[in-house]
Amino acid sequence: MDRLFIGVDVGGTSLKLGVVDEQGSVTQQMEVIYSAEKEQRPVMDVIIESIRKLADENGGIGCFSGIGISAAGCINSVTGSVAGNGGNVKGWANTEVCPILREEFGIPAALANDANCAILGELWTGAARGYTDVLGITLGTGVGGGVITGGRLLEGAHGFAGELGHFTTHAGGDACICGQEGCYERYASTSALIRTAKDADPELGNGRLLFKAAESGDEQALAILNNWITEIAYGITGYVHVFDPQLILIGGGVSAQQKLLIEPLRDKVLSMVMPDFADDLEFRAAALGNTAGLAGAVYYLLSKEHFSESM
Ligand SMILES: [Zn+2]
Repeated sequence: MDRLFIGVDVGGTSLKLGVVDEQGSVTQQMEVIYSAEKEQRPVMDVIIESIRKLADENGGIGCFSGIGISAAGCINSVTGSVAGNGGNVKGWANTEVCPILREEFGIPAALANDANCAILGELWTGAARGYTDVLGITLGTGVGGGVITGGRLLEGAHGFAGELGHFTTHAGGDACICGQEGCYERYASTSALIRTAKDADPELGNGRLLFKAAESGDEQALAILNNWITEIAYGITGYVHVFDPQLILIGGGVSAQQKLLIEPLRDKVLSMVMPDFADDLEFRAAALGNTAGLAGAVYYLLSKEHFSESM
């Protein structure tokens, strides 16, 4: 019989959980709204309680072979813990997630950054299936990322690798949450697009209105969009030269904009990279949405199984 796993996705305001099988199908999903102010207890307690509840509804923890956790914040995948920066999850910094879960449930556990889990989910069952070299870029409040190279996730020494949003594209530019100035995500995120649109015309101040105006040929909206796509293309062009990917996978709500985002972005990057890098380089939108992190966290656990006895 197929083994079953529990996938957990820890975000700033909610936990998502699901039962994941060995083929990467996610069933029995559950969402727990988490409020640090209301709960008055560590997020880890809520995670344990939620895992137990999902397990009990599905035959008990004995029916599961492991727990994969995808989480926001600066994640040390080697130790299975959160580093000193917990991102927007309150009380999350310095939590020893995997050691606590192994102690509590007696089964293997692995933890990875949410952007990395999302790209692994897409590699397993989504839009990147069958590829070995993929650059995942998620456009949202910031710019998240994950790099698959030679069929494996690029992790670096601690599991921190793949922070594609934090390198300088504008020397002396806007201050960034990471402490630097002029980071890529300050110019290429969806938030940057909305900020620029709002400054130009308050009526364009949300994504839906902006894309609608661009669709109907509004020149101002098209110019704002074009400048933003150029900002995204700067970063991707650099990454293409570094990683030589087969596929650029764009995630985030805006990735549904095939004609106004994916296609012009592809054309721009293909015209900017060195010609040999442009051969066969594909662009597409991520396919899995919310379940990518749950599946990807379990895929990460499975990929580590062969390497470590301690899990
Ligand atoms: Zn930064």
